[in-house]
Amino acid sequence: MKLSLVIPVYNEVESLRELHSQISQAAASESLQIEVIFVDDGSRDGSWETILQLSHEDSRVQGIRFRRNFGKAAALTAGLKRASGELVMTMDADLQDDPAEIPHFISKLNEGFDVVNGWKQRRLDPWHKVYPSRVFNWLVSRMTGLKLHDHNCGVKLFRCQVAREIRLYGELHRFVPVLAHARGFRVTEIGVHHRARQHGYSKYGIRRFTRGFLDLLTVSFLIVYGQRPHHMLGWIGLVCFGVGFTGLGYLALMWLLMNVFAVWPSTPIGNRPLLAYSIASTLLGAQAMTIGLLAELIVYNTARDSDSFSVAEETQATTS
Ligand code: UDP
Ligand code: MG
Repeated sequence: MKLSLVIPVYNEVESLRELHSQISQAAASESLQIEVIFVDDGSRDGSWETILQLSHEDSRVQGIRFRRNFGKAAALTAGLKRASGELVMTMDADLQDDPAEIPHFISKLNEGFDVVNGWKQRRLDPWHKVYPSRVFNWLVSRMTGLKLHDHNCGVKLFRCQVAREIRLYGELHRFVPVLAHARGFRVTEIGVHHRARQHGYSKYGIRRFTRGFLDLLTVSFLIVYGQRPHHMLGWIGLVCFGVGFTGLGYLALMWLLMNVFAVWPSTPIGNRPLLAYSIASTLLGAQAMTIGLLAELIVYNTARDSDSFSVAEETQATTS
């Protein structure tokens, strides 16, 4: 079986040669058939020249260069598209992950899994990355039902079917295991050695956690309602509309009782807070429902059939 390594690179020139030789060593010791795809995500430090040199020296090395920095998820998507192996592994270019662990990942996968996620048990990163990351992992595990210690780990091994079915954009690379799990793939994790960064600098600051949280909301929504947004928006819309309508109905009844049937002395309803709230709620409800229908229209016209299911096996067609 062939293993494709997909490696996003953004200004990592000092690490590339060393990484390549460590990968070659690991592959040689296990006599693995591999290809290495470096995706240069708009580096300006000469990373691309090194990738070109490596590809001349070693025919297993391939390179893709982006015109500018498009982000790690985009780099991974481009690399995954190019990958031709039955197994695919993603790995950071900064030497923080150890290629010597590739065989452990493969044997774990062969126990009957589709995705093996790395878990940096002892992280060698500054504390302001480690602690927020713990909270993030706990939150993702709670909200998505997939319990992993390290959702955001750069090293992951998966079967090519997983890569084919999952679409990454923005910063959704953090949620590869979650998205795979939601489609019924079997996901597990394995402890890895983590090394401190030696060259270059980290590309992600504290901002990743706020973005990560927003992305978590996106992913949770996509998993449950991605194919039928009207079920969520329509429901919210109905509730708001119902509440508003009841309020208006109540006020109308009061007005009739006071002014037409004279049950009570007449007091104006125009200045009652309930009126403003009811109108706001009715409008909000109508808006949520129409947005829900609009979203449904978009899904109907753009979704691929295969988006809504994932096939594990099929029998061969028999010709009689
Ligand atoms: N990376 C990338 N594009 C970006 C940011 C990062 O391709 O816009 C790559 C980077 O070169 C590295 C990997 O993604 O190989 C992980 O980045 P980094 O090591 O900075 O993240 P950290 O380990 O600090 O979480
Ligand atoms: Mg790193």
